[in-house]
Amino acid sequence: MEKVSARRARLKSETLFKGKVLLPGAMKKLLLLAAFTISGCSSSNDVGNVTKQLSDDFFVTVADIGGSLPGSAVLKLDDVSDKTSCEKALTRAVCETNATAQQISYRYNSIQCGAKSAQYVPALMEIYEEMPERMRLSLCTLDRVFISDGITSTAFASSVTDSFGTTTGGYIGMRKATFLAQPTSAQIVSWKEQLAFGGSTEFLANDPKLVQINYDLKMSVLKSDGLFYVLMHELGHLIDFNNNVNSRSGWSTDWSKMSWSDSESPIASATFLHRDDFCFYNCQSYLNPSDAKAIYDSLSQSAFVTTYAAQTPYEDFAENWAWHMMEISKSPNYTITVPGQGTVDMNEVFRANPKVRAKMDVVEQMWNDPKTVIDNRHPAH
Ligand SMILES: [Zn+2]
Repeated sequence: MEKVSARRARLKSETLFKGKVLLPGAMKKLLLLAAFTISGCSSSNDVGNVTKQLSDDFFVTVADIGGSLPGSAVLKLDDVSDKTSCEKALTRAVCETNATAQQISYRYNSIQCGAKSAQYVPALMEIYEEMPERMRLSLCTLDRVFISDGITSTAFASSVTDSFGTTTGGYIGMRKATFLAQPTSAQIVSWKEQLAFGGSTEFLANDPKLVQINYDLKMSVLKSDGLFYVLMHELGHLIDFNNNVNSRSGWSTDWSKMSWSDSESPIASATFLHRDDFCFYNCQSYLNPSDAKAIYDSLSQSAFVTTYAAQTPYEDFAENWAWHMMEISKSPNYTITVPGQGTVDMNEVFRANPKVRAKMDVVEQMWNDPKTVIDNRHPAH
């Protein structure tokens, strides 16, 4: 039971999925106005509460909020293909703060933003440059991008819903050190992975004796690939939340059924050695480093792209989404090396393992033609 509670707590702290914002009427109006301002639409028309979710531009994080805004109810790729308009939107959205993830989730729309918040826009625009073009819409339409010392995980994402449960947008929060350090994906992922083996909780600490994970993404503008990976993962969460790829309240979906029996337990054929013992944050016990190579060999036969993907169906989707974004644009070279024990070549796994491939194919189809794949667009509850 303890393990289940811990897993639930981690789910909350990592995705704040259950911390969706329910706003009273006045707050709701403020929120919607904010969303419109960011989208470049100045209309103050009331909007209906019909959630149509997304239209042709599946990649937007903001749902079609009612269709009562003539000609502009749904953001289109053209709205942000101009770099300047995206830059303006992100300048309004970015918010430097000391608030914790919990504080942000309770009052995301009234967090005081530092006067120098805009200093982070250039780094965000470098990520924009690196992103697959259609994916830029998701970044440029974020309601808020919080950059905070108070965030203790690498980053988190949350959709925003009104008092009817209708999705109206999304925001992300990133640990300030993630921005300042401009870490590589290898630094971020290896640090996080080492936590499960008792590695240092000091951000980005690396024990050379513990597992080393490398994605080696080919960047063209960013000096390192860490922020790209983190953003693709977090935007993947919003695409999930805002389209109900995974259920918000317990029912299984086409996606979750591929690997999960419920929101915490993988099906037997999907899992891998010691999966149930992995813990990344606030851990009471750790994996034995001498088991590491056996664990990653087992992972390579499982249905999961990373050990973190096997935490919950939500992380599973976010990791798969991030992987697809990397595969189509960044020629990743994904290896897991356990010092003294050997290396697992995950590129080979992705080519040959049918369980992983089947899930990647779903994500690829979503990317290519979302309407044919996503059939779980139940109204939000
Ligand atoms: Zn996540």
